[in-house]
Amino acid sequence: RELLELYFVEQTANIAQPAIPKELTFDEDELDKAINDDQFVLYYQPKVLLKSGRMVSVEALARWHHPEIGVVNPVHFIPMMESSGLIAPMTIKMIDLALDQVRLWCEQGRNIAVGVNLSAAILSNTDLPDMLIQKTRDLNIPPELLTLEITESSLIQNAALSLETLARFKLHGFSLSIDDFGTGYSSMQQLNRIPFSELKIDRSFVSNACHDKTHKAIVEANISLAHNLNMQTVAEGVETVEDWQLLHELNCDLAQGYFIAKPMPAEALSQWEQEWLTRQPISPPKPNL
Ligand code: C2E
Ligand code: MG
Ligand code: MG
Ligand code: MG
Repeated sequence: RELLELYFVEQTANIAQPAIPKELTFDEDELDKAINDDQFVLYYQPKVLLKSGRMVSVEALARWHHPEIGVVNPVHFIPMMESSGLIAPMTIKMIDLALDQVRLWCEQGRNIAVGVNLSAAILSNTDLPDMLIQKTRDLNIPPELLTLEITESSLIQNAALSLETLARFKLHGFSLSIDDFGTGYSSMQQLNRIPFSELKIDRSFVSNACHDKTHKAIVEANISLAHNLNMQTVAEGVETVEDWQLLHELNCDLAQGYFIAKPMPAEALSQWEQEWLTRQPISPPKPNL
């Protein structure tokens, strides 16, 4: 509730964030305490079908509800968590929050898939797939409603263990998504080995595609690569109606970005959906929200 109020205050005042210096970092003890005090929450950003505008899934993005500073973005705490090992307990907490939310949506009759971000560091934990299948079973959630987003660059670290963990996820029926695609390396080899069902085209290509032939060609090539490998494509960082129209023309499947919605608390999503219905640029077919 408190978080939702804070979010609406930010929205109406049109101040994205309190002024947090870019280089601000926190030490391990502070982060450890904050994890234990449940100060990390999830914001959700819709992924919508370019054909109909319908929201089919959301990405869960961690936010630190800092008692003094306010809402702190992941760039300020994920790197320290990764280097200290705190990323493991933090990720488990985020997965629990995401699954509770999916459960709630299921009870409301909505099948909304949630994408959770996994750092490279956690992929060496080969118990994680079994732990997640237990959690989804306990909550009676179909595993395909949980998507695990892994950045292309994180696949390089710990390649052998990552592969084992990812293969187990897939075996259990979870969906795998390759995040920030195009910014990592040895991509073709990884794509061949790991059964991803979703490819997320990095924001840096999407946001320039309208004005730059090379970026447009990269986006186009990524879409055809993904489709040939039976993957769905998500364009990240869709910020303008021009971006939307281009991606629609290029036959991209899903769009995510500020043009559609910024990440928000779960409670704000239904209000956003109402508003999106009236302004989303597709007609016909009418969205079936
Ligand atoms: P990501 O997984 O690639 O998530 C997309 C990021 O792009 C998010 O930043 C989102 O707010 C931002 N974004 C979405 N649409 C737009 C847009 O139209 N324009 C612009 N400029 N940005 C957009 P955020 O939430 O700050 O997260 C940054 C990164 O932190 C994420 O990148 C992800 O790699 C990581 N992250 C977030 N939450 C978690 C978490 O729970 N665990 C782990 N391990 N990493 C996380
Ligand atoms: Mg992601
Ligand atoms: Mg990404
Ligand atoms: Mg990213």
